[in-house]
Amino acid sequence: MPVLVMKFGGTSVANLDRIRRAAKRVGVEVAKGYDVIVIVSAMSGETNKLVGLVDETSPLYDAREYDAIVSSGENVTAGLMALTLQEMDVPARSWQGWQVPLLTTSAHSQARIEEIPTDNLNAKFGEGMRVAVVAGFQGLSPEGRITTLGRGGSDTTAVAFAAAFEAERCDIYTDVDGVYTTDPRISPKARKLDKIAFEEMLELASLGAKVLQTRSVELAMRFKVKLRVLSSFEEQSDEAGTLVCDEEEIMESNVVAGVAYSRDEAKMTLLSVADRPGIASIIFGCLSDAGVNVDMIVQNISEDGRTDMTYSLPTDQVKRAEQALAGLKDDGGLNFAELVIDEDVAKVSVVGIGMRSQSGVAAKMFKVLSDEGVNIKVITTSEIKISVLIDRKYMELAVQSLHDAFELEKA
Ligand code: ADP
Ligand code: ASP
Ligand code: MG
Repeated sequence: MPVLVMKFGGTSVANLDRIRRAAKRVGVEVAKGYDVIVIVSAMSGETNKLVGLVDETSPLYDAREYDAIVSSGENVTAGLMALTLQEMDVPARSWQGWQVPLLTTSAHSQARIEEIPTDNLNAKFGEGMRVAVVAGFQGLSPEGRITTLGRGGSDTTAVAFAAAFEAERCDIYTDVDGVYTTDPRISPKARKLDKIAFEEMLELASLGAKVLQTRSVELAMRFKVKLRVLSSFEEQSDEAGTLVCDEEEIMESNVVAGVAYSRDEAKMTLLSVADRPGIASIIFGCLSDAGVNVDMIVQNISEDGRTDMTYSLPTDQVKRAEQALAGLKDDGGLNFAELVIDEDVAKVSVVGIGMRSQSGVAAKMFKVLSDEGVNIKVITTSEIKISVLIDRKYMELAVQSLHDAFELEKA
């Protein structure tokens, strides 16, 4: 029988009523003749609560135990969803990651999926199971420990299952009815897109649009998974939501497809570092060993053999970075003068494949921000995106004025 993957995010399974509503939708697809793999997130707020408990118990925690704890929210929803389906006379059972097994690397809290053997689920489908309810976000390391796939990881679980089982489609049910030109919670003028190209979605996701986890878009692109984002709160037709697809499938598109933001950014500057070969390698090697994800990097022109090095990182990694660099301060001639930390910045980005062939987007973006009196602290660009780091208090203003200036409310 054809397979369909349906993923329900945290708000879509936030209580028993919502689980029932989601289960009904699954029942509709089962009645159409699909074998369904349902991927569930933890009930909304649960994962944050578990992360809070870990932080309170052990600030510099053992990542293996972090994973054992924060993965547990999904176990509850998987069981509840399976029970709800059984109550509707749909043959269903729950699967935790290790039971499938969903095999991952051992990079705890950021593990990558290596393989999903299909035998166990297929054997049960062969015996009459119609729905496999799989706990999202979790897997099993080669060492036999529980791993998690990074925040938002259930999206990636869903796409990986769709690829492994050659599903007809991977439907991501969430609390908005598709992918918008920007976060509809920030801009009331945000417009829902019927289609968005993989490359654009990949950039938007990696620049902060949390509607899909970046890795899920990467996998969908690589394995040609038909990926759709839609609302779990409204009745849906087969054409509802947003289809993430190849750019060839989109006839007309704006130069800029969307505006993304990332609120929780910080900026660190190492003042007066010795400017000699190998310095960047020492600094960023040390940060990488400490598990810090550095994003934007700027090095100033050097004066008298010394320079300043600035980079951005997520705010929750500042402590870790500070600690790692403290160990380097007097080491290997790095002896920088001071470490300046700014934890009140945000990143705002415009994304669009149209930028490949149209110049002037950066100039327009900078003009818009300057007209609003927003100072730009760091800039980075790639072929299809421009990102700026600005004071966090201007983030909403920047998103809205860029959305207006690039006329994203118009198709
Ligand atoms: P789920 O719990 O279903 O995984 P998430 O909270 O992870 O849902 O993602 C959905 C949220 O993503 C929306 O509520 C919305 O605020 C946010 N979002 C950010 N950017 C966008 C965008 N461009 N289009 C749609 N939603 C977006
Ligand atoms: N529950 C996990 C999180 O909140 C995974 C997910 O929902 O996708 O990040
Ligand atoms: Mg999510």
